[in-house]
Amino acid sequence: DWMTAPDTRAVVAALTADGQEVRFVGGCVRDALIERPVGDIDIATPDAPETVMALLRRAGLKAVPTGIEHGTVTAVSGHRPFEITTLREDVETYGRHARVAFTDDWAADAARRDFTMNAMFCAPDGTIYDPFGGWADLLAGHVRFVGDAEARVREDYLRLLRFFRFYARYGQGPPDAAALQAAQRHAGKLTTLAAERICHELLKFLEAANPGPAARVIRDYGILQPVLPEARYAERLSWLAAIEREQGVAIDPLRRMAAWLDLREAHRLGERLRLSKKAERYLRTLAAPTASVRVDRATATLRRPLHRLGRELTRDLYLLDAAERAAAGGRLNTKALAAGLAEIEAWQPKRLPVDGRDVTALGVAPGPRIKELLEALEEWWVDQDFQPGREACLAELKRRVAALPGDG
Ligand code: ATP
Ligand code: MG
Repeated sequence: DWMTAPDTRAVVAALTADGQEVRFVGGCVRDALIERPVGDIDIATPDAPETVMALLRRAGLKAVPTGIEHGTVTAVSGHRPFEITTLREDVETYGRHARVAFTDDWAADAARRDFTMNAMFCAPDGTIYDPFGGWADLLAGHVRFVGDAEARVREDYLRLLRFFRFYARYGQGPPDAAALQAAQRHAGKLTTLAAERICHELLKFLEAANPGPAARVIRDYGILQPVLPEARYAERLSWLAAIEREQGVAIDPLRRMAAWLDLREAHRLGERLRLSKKAERYLRTLAAPTASVRVDRATATLRRPLHRLGRELTRDLYLLDAAERAAAGGRLNTKALAAGLAEIEAWQPKRLPVDGRDVTALGVAPGPRIKELLEALEEWWVDQDFQPGREACLAELKRRVAALPGDG
């Protein structure tokens, strides 16, 4: 249990050495209460960040000032990072944006957090402080803003996306009406957010066990219309999540993004979402018309994409095609699906047993023709299920070179 683990104890002991009171807060409290695996551990303290740094160093712990101006220090103890944040409160509101100040008021800090289930504290002895009824909301699957939804969204439009992230993960039943209304009213303001913040929230959203129902709400209410109108395949996303679960395939938010979006309609997606080069390349490859894997064919047809695209892309295309068919009302044969996935997993990369030197040795002059010959030979070799060895490939190559029109 993370709360009583030696790493955690060491951090708590350091922070409380001078008698200060600290409490766990946010995601770790929420997830512990419903026995979900806990991700990052956040700790709140009334001490100023400089004091936090000094206390950690005095105890021999590594302390990194990861966000000093926001009051955040990261402690590293064992293998886990602990985010230690000084209590904050909104002191003044200039128009929509609040100015924050450090405080020693736990209630004020809770009040500026986004959802009731994220505004709970837990003392190191296990006492829960739950000023807004977050625990009951959590159990009921009710994602609810702390205070007035409309006002909270206007303070920070990212909360609109965070609402769907948490609704996808913890929601049961229809979404909170006030939150939905605020989201709908202010969706246009999403364009004012930095692309990387939007992308970060969307990827987190896509990591939910089944983001499908929330994606349906997002589409029906036009929430992402201003920033990501191509996010419209909620059913395909839902089916992909169901297939992943049923087939024991690990969740991959980018694969889910590919299921959710109309990739062929998506222009400059990488740029718009500030995706990494790798993520962008992945989505572009999946969208290419030549990248096609069909689950309804004999599994032997997988060898072409496997050879050309490799194991991971082939597996993803295979899962996406299965989701697409299911969403279109087709029947899923889970046994056949499992057989295809097993074949993909077992795939070992193959190399054509001849190369450019073999072609020149046959008297073909250097030039583009060598590459063309090799590519055509490789097609033939793949069609023969990689069976022809070096001798057979050389013989076929000879036949093809002999059949070339003379070019002097
Ligand atoms: P996860 O398990 O996905 O990390 P989390 O609750 O830890 O969930 P974080 O984004 O890491 O989510 O934020 C930590 C805590 O900080 C939240 O639980 C919430 O209390 C607060 N918080 C984060 N972002 C906001 C925001 N935009 N507005 C208000 N409170 C926020
Ligand atoms: Mg977190």
